[in-house]
Amino acid sequence: MTSIDTQCLIGAAFEAGEDAAEPILNPRTGGLILDLPEASTGQVDRAVAAARKAFRTWSRTTPAERSAALLRIADRIEAEAGGFAALEALNCGKPINAALGDEIPAVVDCYRFFAGAVRTMHGQVAGEYMAGHTSMVRRDPIGVVASIAPWNYPLMMMAWKLAPAIAGGNTVVFKPSEQTPLTALKLARILAEELPEGVVSVIPGRGHTVGSHLINHQDVDMISLTGDVATGRKILDAAAKTVKRTHLELGGKAPVVVFDDADLSEVVEGLRAFSFYNAGQDCTAACRVYAGRKIYDNLVADLTSATASITLAAEDDTTNEIGPLISQRQRDRVASFVNRAREVGHIEITTGGEAMDQGFYYRPTVVAGALQSDEIVRREVFGPVVSVTPFSEVDEAIAWANDSDYGLSSSVWTRDVGRAMATAAELRYGCTWINTHFMLVNEMPHGGLKQSGYGKDMSSYALEDYSVVRHVMIKH
Ligand code: NAD
Repeated sequence: MTSIDTQCLIGAAFEAGEDAAEPILNPRTGGLILDLPEASTGQVDRAVAAARKAFRTWSRTTPAERSAALLRIADRIEAEAGGFAALEALNCGKPINAALGDEIPAVVDCYRFFAGAVRTMHGQVAGEYMAGHTSMVRRDPIGVVASIAPWNYPLMMMAWKLAPAIAGGNTVVFKPSEQTPLTALKLARILAEELPEGVVSVIPGRGHTVGSHLINHQDVDMISLTGDVATGRKILDAAAKTVKRTHLELGGKAPVVVFDDADLSEVVEGLRAFSFYNAGQDCTAACRVYAGRKIYDNLVADLTSATASITLAAEDDTTNEIGPLISQRQRDRVASFVNRAREVGHIEITTGGEAMDQGFYYRPTVVAGALQSDEIVRREVFGPVVSVTPFSEVDEAIAWANDSDYGLSSSVWTRDVGRAMATAAELRYGCTWINTHFMLVNEMPHGGLKQSGYGKDMSSYALEDYSVVRHVMIKH
């Protein structure tokens, strides 16, 4: 691997962070990759000032000009796909095939999607809604956006935030997670070449220092966060002071409703992939299964053997299907959830349930027989752990599925189209998949209800979130 970029991008300048260093670890081994100094509050202030200044001109560029910049960024990422994937694999522990084959193409496509979408925005037609006056609707950028990303898909979350924001004519100060800043700092080199000064700044650092200063900044107009519900609440508190707009993508605890008539092998194959991808560190992970009484026993048995067959921690990384957890802390958190579940009399851990003796790995785990009231069913684990709960009545399954503080995603598995549609209509989730789970496309919105937040990523709805509707009326 070539040398690793470590400098902040502030306006047009690359500078070393001026504040405390954060150790960046390799989750496969727990070893140190490098120590990265975080941005100082003075550097955050300069990044915001650069974004404010750039907004004046960037907001007046045409959609075609912004589109061209996004297409160039997409091409550059694609041209360096191997380097980006290797760095993401190093910093997050992702299997190289997942980074290179799944994530980088989705990142590239995100920039390309918004490059097209911004040129074809729709709205209400102009007309004489009052005699002697013509009204029209504009969609204008909001201003300076503070974007804050989590560690589970660093480069993809960056794309979801940057692409609609800059396509819409906003400028952005971007803070990656303090645990996974490396691909953002690499991308900063490309952004500095392809965008005018100040349109995007990239400032690494911790949440309670760099993040907190950024979200409380007077000159920030909007805050976009993908992260924990508790962090979302802090964003809302900070936003209240100057009534900033917010775009929140928070946690999830996706229910998976499996009816007795579902195709068992499809369900098992689906859960093996969609519960454990990215080691379950995914807010849409299929982690909370409700299975009809007739299919329950076979589902638990087959899911247990399928889960036990997942390859991880192999020396040949091209054979790995999942990686480790991001940190010791995250692994301990996952282990403590499973250990508490193990103590509950009616629960059986049918496979996994232990950390591995290497890096931050945790074995893929199936928790059978959990009840709706159990912690493992109610709280977000954010690791390779799936619970399975039997149900008797359709209404009971739907009520349990909806009985959650979260509302991001869900799935229904059945051969009966009518039942699938009726169930989907009743589920209070931003997305419901039928006979699949986890699949995202840049044309369709991703975002939640309830405490999962309300920001929409991807799709033309994200462009709406990062712009403001204005009315212009002309007297004849
Ligand atoms: P986190 O909330 O701890 O951190 C997210 C980001 O917020 C980081 O960059 C962090 O530095 C920053 N942050 C933390 N405290 C802050 C503060 N006081 N002020 C400003 N910024 C602050 O979350 P995480 O542990 O990195 O990510 C895991 C969480 O993200 C999970 O709960 C997961 O469900 C959620 N998530 C949601 C989605 C979604 O699309 N809804 C996607 C991925 C992850």
